[in-house]
Amino acid sequence: MSTSATSVELKPCPLYINGQPVISRGPKDVQYNPANGEPLAEIPRTTPEEISAAVEAARQAFPSWSKTPVLQRCRILFKYREVLEAHAQELIALMTEENGKTLEESRGSFQRGIECIEFACGAPTLMMGETVDQVGTGVDGWSTRNPIGVCVGITPFNFPFMVPLWMFPMAIACGNTFVLKPSDKVPRTAVRLVELAYEAGLPAGVLNLVHGAKSTVDSLLADPRVKAVSFVGSSTVARYIYQTAANNGKRVQALGGAKNHSVVLPDAEMKSTVAAIMGSGFGCAGERCLATSVVVAVGEAADSLVKELVRAADNLNVGPGCETKTAMGPVITGEAKKRILSYIELGEKEGAVLARDGRKDAVARGDGYFVGPTIFDNVDANSRIAQEEIFGPVLSVIRVKNLKDAIEVISKSEYGNAASVFTRSGAAAREFTQNVGAGMVGINVGVPAPVAFFSFSGWKNSFFGDLHALGKDAVHFYTEQRVVTCRWPD
Ligand code: NAD
Repeated sequence: MSTSATSVELKPCPLYINGQPVISRGPKDVQYNPANGEPLAEIPRTTPEEISAAVEAARQAFPSWSKTPVLQRCRILFKYREVLEAHAQELIALMTEENGKTLEESRGSFQRGIECIEFACGAPTLMMGETVDQVGTGVDGWSTRNPIGVCVGITPFNFPFMVPLWMFPMAIACGNTFVLKPSDKVPRTAVRLVELAYEAGLPAGVLNLVHGAKSTVDSLLADPRVKAVSFVGSSTVARYIYQTAANNGKRVQALGGAKNHSVVLPDAEMKSTVAAIMGSGFGCAGERCLATSVVVAVGEAADSLVKELVRAADNLNVGPGCETKTAMGPVITGEAKKRILSYIELGEKEGAVLARDGRKDAVARGDGYFVGPTIFDNVDANSRIAQEEIFGPVLSVIRVKNLKDAIEVISKSEYGNAASVFTRSGAAAREFTQNVGAGMVGINVGVPAPVAFFSFSGWKNSFFGDLHALGKDAVHFYTEQRVVTCRWPD
């Protein structure tokens, strides 16, 4: 992002307030295409008055929307799913243009986003309460789940379509109204998500959209009309959101960053393991909260694994996401590229063996923000490249003697989002799943992303709050429970 003027006529990115597009009066930043560094659009920093108007629209829409029968609310979501499917190609191309993902990756995340709407369409049964007759003589008890009011969603750059869909479909299916604040790096997919929701028949004010970064978020966190905040992004910001929103009396779930490990045992099936680690480590250019960024190679697995990973990385086609032959696109911004390159230099200084240097691919691709697949071998488990989230295509291989040591390495991480094990042994897989310090575990699966009816369950500094995104947790997060105790006179 930058405020520098440009000679190109850029389209302004609208806000959505009370069902209407609004051109913000706030100062503008410029969004750049990660594949070629060219300006794409003007992104406003929403003014305090506009943010307040968006929250007020959501507040005013709440009484009527929350009283709309749940089946009717879900009928709009069924229609929304159809409308999105009808625009699939446009949305996939848009994700690739603003985020840099390959078309195949955008297609995958489109599908995962659609699944969140399908899950939210189950709200009528998911919201069911519990009943116990005769809790006392002539007395019955039951519970109901009730919407809570205006909910806010703050989302990261890496999944512009899917992560907003983790939040608002379930929130509105449960009868809440919503204000979405997407990443200032990828705001245009969010604009289409909101426009198409209105095309599907959503009443005005149920879903609103504001842009910007910290100052917009701070206004939303301070607003007493906002009852709940869902956040996905880096851990530093997640912790801040959690503390600030909670201090202001709001319900909050804040999903943070990650440093995920894949443990490879000597008995693992090598070909599929290498394919899974390549997909996990370098898919979406390593910009995935479930990306493997540390491979823990056990015993004699290490030598052939590193050799095969390097060979596969040499064959990975790095280029613009919109080209069908591309297997890995650019990273999101010039600053992100600089940060990732500085970690590669750090790895060398820390004494790790640079088995494959992705900087050579970066040089070969002109003005886009490209960094090629990079692999460090013999990485010290306590080094910074092994511990800190790099969020780019840099894989660190740590060599250990046995599974116990591998689990010990993972236990030292401040993060606990995901971890995978590759083995043919059921006993080893069981030992791993029962002892590893991570909330999402893969067995011979590189990206253990739960489907929408399970919760997205990071641990440690990968999550701040109680109720996670998706699954039953989401239904509980977006509703509050009422328990009725009832006696009728005979
Ligand atoms: P980020 O934390 O920089 O930004 C996330 C959101 O917060 C954006 O909307 C941004 O505008 C806003 N924001 C940024 N700085 C802020 C501040 N100081 N105060 C208030 N709001 C602020 O994250 P990002 O770079 O967009 O996304 C990458 C991060 O997200 C990685 O750390 C990744 O691991 C994480 N992530 C986690 C999950 C998960 O499920 N745990 C999923 C996707 C991404």
